[in-house]
Amino acid sequence: MCGIFGYSGNKQAQKLVIQGLRHLEYRGYDSSGIAMQTPASTILTEKTHGKIKNLEDTLKIHPLSGTTAIGHTRWATHGIPTRENAHPHLNESDELAVVHNGIIENYFDLKKKLQAEGVRFRSETDTEVIVHLVAKYYKGNLENAVRRTLKDLKGTYAIAVIASREPGKIVAAKMDSPLVIGSTKEESYLASDISALLEHTNRVTFIENG
Ligand code: GLU
Repeated sequence: MCGIFGYSGNKQAQKLVIQGLRHLEYRGYDSSGIAMQTPASTILTEKTHGKIKNLEDTLKIHPLSGTTAIGHTRWATHGIPTRENAHPHLNESDELAVVHNGIIENYFDLKKKLQAEGVRFRSETDTEVIVHLVAKYYKGNLENAVRRTLKDLKGTYAIAVIASREPGKIVAAKMDSPLVIGSTKEESYLASDISALLEHTNRVTFIENG
């Protein structure tokens, strides 16, 4: 169970998300990544195996511009630590992205079902089923699609999801894994650990299970 950081506001999100992930580094991790909403019709991601420094080096060459993003530090439970298994995970059309802390206990059954429906997976993680389920239920409203997805999941999770078609929105949910929202007048932050929020705001909301 490792780290999540999200930002939506009027500032460039890349720097804030990396800074946020750095606060969560102390928990240990094997890889990291970021997904950015851009004016393009797809979500852009960068992920790297190893230290956040590797992600930063990649972002120096391929910076991601935008004001809404989610980031993750992974501690692998399902699938070895590789770039492919690092979060965020995208749906097949790259229009939805998810980061996840925890374990989806029924992922194997969900994955078999989705594969039988023709979905192609790109990683070995339990997490990837979440984004394909959101895609399956997505009819233009991300909250509704995530709410429906949660009904299918068994396990522990903190998740954050973005959709390219809904700029400025991050949908988050949790079950037995911490997740906190921080807000200012113009911005929203999301983190799996309150310590990553306090340099930005002390207006925090702890998300409840379900
Ligand atoms: N179970 C997920 C994975 O292995 C998330 C692990 C985590 O909490 O970092 O990718």
